[in-house]
Amino acid sequence: MVRPVASAAPLAPFANHLPVDVRFGDGVLATLPAVLANLGARRPFVFLDPALAALELELDGERFVLDDREPTPATVDGAGARLAASRADAVVAIGGGSTLDTAKGARVVARQGGPVARYTWPGDPEPIVAPKIPLVTVPTTAGTGSEVTGGVVLHDPDRAIKVAAPSPHNRARVALVDPELTHALPPEPTLYGGIDVIAQAIGAVVATTHTPIGDAIALEALRISRDALPAVVDEGADAPARSRMACASLMAGLAMNLSEASSDHSLAHALGARHGLPHGLAVGLVLAEAMEHDRAARPDAFGRVAEALGAPREGAVSAVRDLLARIDFPTLAQCGVTEADLGPLAGAALAAWIPVSPAPWTREDAYRAFRRALDLVARAGSPASGRSADARTVMSAATTDPSRR
Ligand code: NAD
Repeated sequence: MVRPVASAAPLAPFANHLPVDVRFGDGVLATLPAVLANLGARRPFVFLDPALAALELELDGERFVLDDREPTPATVDGAGARLAASRADAVVAIGGGSTLDTAKGARVVARQGGPVARYTWPGDPEPIVAPKIPLVTVPTTAGTGSEVTGGVVLHDPDRAIKVAAPSPHNRARVALVDPELTHALPPEPTLYGGIDVIAQAIGAVVATTHTPIGDAIALEALRISRDALPAVVDEGADAPARSRMACASLMAGLAMNLSEASSDHSLAHALGARHGLPHGLAVGLVLAEAMEHDRAARPDAFGRVAEALGAPREGAVSAVRDLLARIDFPTLAQCGVTEADLGPLAGAALAAWIPVSPAPWTREDAYRAFRRALDLVARAGSPASGRSADARTVMSAATTDPSRR
């Protein structure tokens, strides 16, 4: 049956900017020297995720290996000072979102002076100007899409919030997306990053800033990842599924760049900052609850999300709940969050709300969403596998030591 067009209203005007040169495929990392030569760079400053510290690269220039925590303003200020003191003519970032965002932030600090807090929101950020040296990104997780975004997201431990320094000038000149680099990704970052892909793709479609181009990319990212995510969670060595997740992550990042992240990210940033939870974990803990609040405000958009996830048009939230159960995603209670945390979490979320949600949110709405997430004793249909128990162990370590990120 042909479905009638939902609305005859003209499309809203939009502007899209997709400037990153993207090269995707197994082994594409080998082109890095040629890519740098083409940019006229001889002395790159290479930021590396610690898991990739032993990576052999045929490059001259300085290497800077990060620790495995999500970055703070202090991390970026330190890295920025090192970069400024170098004679680097390009920046290369090889790692997960933490490494890529550190490199982007350091490039701003090296160009304009620190501290990075001058450029972060919430606050009164100074404009970011175009850096003089190019950035090449090489993601090693499938999650944030930071390889193509202008985002720099940092954990500010002093204020217990996430802060951001977004700018089109932060985007990479070239992104080399080599799925082989994700083959050794451990189960937790595979799971957490994977749900971040789903959330960012959904957010790009339902946020008020969505555009037709972003919608198309995001919906395809959902179609790819709905099967690839369970496949990589079941079997990390599944090379075709790893490849598809790397592509979906890139696409969700592009789509988010053309639109925005939605309510789940506002809730998750508060959760991640207060409880020391990895970004993707925090997102997955509240994704369905955020969608539940928003879905009535944009039924057509949520209908398209549902279809892309292979569900009936009314079924976006249950499709996400089913997926979370299928991949045995932890619950809020398993991560050490208690009743007493809900009020402060709701306040923190509202204080730094990304202002593009499909529906308005009050502090009470945020409280109720966290409440619903906390009330979830188990994910319906979740297999009684060992992963939830493993996640609990990881989470209790993260919760007792907020610096362990
Ligand atoms: P991550 O970079 O923090 O990495 C997670 C873990 O995986 C770390 O222990 C890391 O050492 C390890 N790891 C990474 N690659 C590996 C590999 N190939 N093999 C083995 N281990 C590997 O995780 P992430 O989810 O990619 O990034 C999270 C960060 O990105 C957060 O700070 C979040 O706020 C930020 N973020 C940024 C954007 C953006 O647009 N810039 C969007 C969403 C989130």
